[in-house]
Amino acid sequence: MQVVARKEQEERLLKLVEAGKELVKKAIEFIEERHAGQYRKTGEPYVLHPLEVALYLAQLGMDRSTIVAGLLHDVLEDTATTYEELKEHFGEEVAEIVEGVTKLGKIPFKDLQTQKAENYRKLILAFSKDLRVIFVKLADRWHNMKTLHCFSREKQVRIARETLELFVPIANRLGLWRIKTELEDLCFMYLYPKEYEEVKSFVGKTREELESYLKEVFIPSLRRELQKAGLEAHITYRPKHLYSIWQKTIRKGIRLEDVHDLLGVRVIVNMVQECYLVLGVVHSAFKPVPGKFDDYISLPKPNLYQSLHTTVIGPEGKMVEVQIRTWEMHERAEKGIAAHWAYKEGKNLQDSGVYSWLKSLVESVQGSKNSEELLENLRLELFSEEVFVFTPRGDLVVLPKGATPVDFAYHIHTEVGNHCAGAKVNGKIVPLYYRLQNGDQVEILTHPNKKPNPEWLNFVVTSKAKSRIKAVLKELEKNRYLQLGRERLEKLLHRLNLSREALLEKLLEDTKAKTEEELLLLLGSGRLSLERVYSLFKKSHREKPQEKVEDTLQIDGLGSVLHTLAGCCNPLPGEEVYGVITKGKGLVIHSKECPNLNHVRQISPEKVVKVLWDRSKGLHPVRIRLVVKDRVGMLAEVTSAISRTGANITEAKTKSLPSGEALMDFTLQVENYQKFLRVKESLQSLEGVERLQRLMG
Ligand code: MN
Repeated sequence: MQVVARKEQEERLLKLVEAGKELVKKAIEFIEERHAGQYRKTGEPYVLHPLEVALYLAQLGMDRSTIVAGLLHDVLEDTATTYEELKEHFGEEVAEIVEGVTKLGKIPFKDLQTQKAENYRKLILAFSKDLRVIFVKLADRWHNMKTLHCFSREKQVRIARETLELFVPIANRLGLWRIKTELEDLCFMYLYPKEYEEVKSFVGKTREELESYLKEVFIPSLRRELQKAGLEAHITYRPKHLYSIWQKTIRKGIRLEDVHDLLGVRVIVNMVQECYLVLGVVHSAFKPVPGKFDDYISLPKPNLYQSLHTTVIGPEGKMVEVQIRTWEMHERAEKGIAAHWAYKEGKNLQDSGVYSWLKSLVESVQGSKNSEELLENLRLELFSEEVFVFTPRGDLVVLPKGATPVDFAYHIHTEVGNHCAGAKVNGKIVPLYYRLQNGDQVEILTHPNKKPNPEWLNFVVTSKAKSRIKAVLKELEKNRYLQLGRERLEKLLHRLNLSREALLEKLLEDTKAKTEEELLLLLGSGRLSLERVYSLFKKSHREKPQEKVEDTLQIDGLGSVLHTLAGCCNPLPGEEVYGVITKGKGLVIHSKECPNLNHVRQISPEKVVKVLWDRSKGLHPVRIRLVVKDRVGMLAEVTSAISRTGANITEAKTKSLPSGEALMDFTLQVENYQKFLRVKESLQSLEGVERLQRLMG
């Protein structure tokens, strides 16, 4: 059985190698002899492992030297073979790659961490000289992960964690898409077995249905449309890998049932222009989902990935992600830098983004004084977009860069987030807006009476935290409005001298409210004003109603006072404000950030009082300045992002800067500070927006 498997491997391998089959055969004979009598933990003869590694490299289209090095990759570490011997039999090129993959042997290290760090250092220096070292290392790791099942749970977790921390980001940066996704799914299985099973069984249940939809409905109809337009294209579909589905549920804070792009359709054409023609056909045949279009052809990812991505609503109302690319882009997407390698053997990569990344990686490795610093620098280089932290029990949690303890708390559980009272990082109390760092161990302190604070919305970065905080705040606000509504209803009953039933009946008839609760909410939020109710009963409110709730301010609880809003900073309801006592205009309200306010504060602090907003109606102006990448369509994207939040634009000015950036000044009208924050947040998440500033003074 094993012999058959071995022979089959050899045949498959030789079939994939075009030139120099002799050297490959020689390497196979060599490892058969050197690894003779050695067995893998799986019980199989050791040679099956290097054969699998070489086969994988051959499938990636790697050159002969890499494949031969793949066969020989363990002989220096695990057999008595020497470098000189390898050089003599297989040449210096192959010997160098194998040497690069080999761990540091004999030197004794003071601890495991130092050993790990030094091995990383060696590996990175080796692959910066010859990228093929990392291809072999990744293929080796891929096969080791595939055979990890026979090891102890402890070792499985350790290896999987190292893979996710080090090898996955490297594969990602090199654009080795296939290795990256396969490694991720394997890590997922070992690090989060429960979640893995959940996603797997969910996908298993729904995939069949989706597949038949794509095969029988979506693709035929797309094909017809493309034919009508005279376009020739190759159409396939591909399943999204499990880890990315799971990551999506976390990133977006959604349930598995709400992940719609389990399968994506891929359209491959010959020329770049055809990509855009296909896009036009797709968008006119099916309704595109707004905000789901990405042009990675004009703006490739750092790892050189190119494609057009769009999500559309297909027949029967199902969402489908469509990726459009040329064959060349496809090749590069599948094999990453390896494809590049296959085309231009031996050529260096000076002009690609990968090269500069590699350079900074090497610099940080060489510049690190000790192992601790090296591991830290390595993490920083590898995870520019994610931060890896740990629970007190040592479980790994992956969050987007910039995440705070509140994001962590909501990641653990909604209730933990909702009652989050404080946080400890590495045993020390930190503020809740602390930005988590790689390797932090995070502990959340909770208290049953603690509730989410609106301020959290200013610093959380995960959508799960955002949506959960908003939901709770909405609920709290609703309760407050209900309470206010009840109070106002009592007041009306008293003043109008009516029975409760009569009043309710009339109001339900006259407003959109269907229930008493809805009516109380209208009254409490001020959307149904007391004036309006009085006028309904033909009673003039000029009889001086005791309150004009809609825009009162409280000074330290003293009740409403005469005030004006400062024109310099245009304070928004809901933000932190201070009043400046003046002779002519009473109290002038300034935003806490206003430079004029801070000036007064310094020269006559006695004139400044803390003021709390009650509520305010109507729209308020706010001025903002953006610094953006100066590119076609940027202004349209910015204005539509603003409009989507519901804010009005009353003035816009733009100016190109010599730096290739553009300045955009806007005056907007918003209801309150929360709304402004929403505008800010949606602009900051736009690609190309570099800075956002509120203009004051
Ligand atoms: Mn190996």
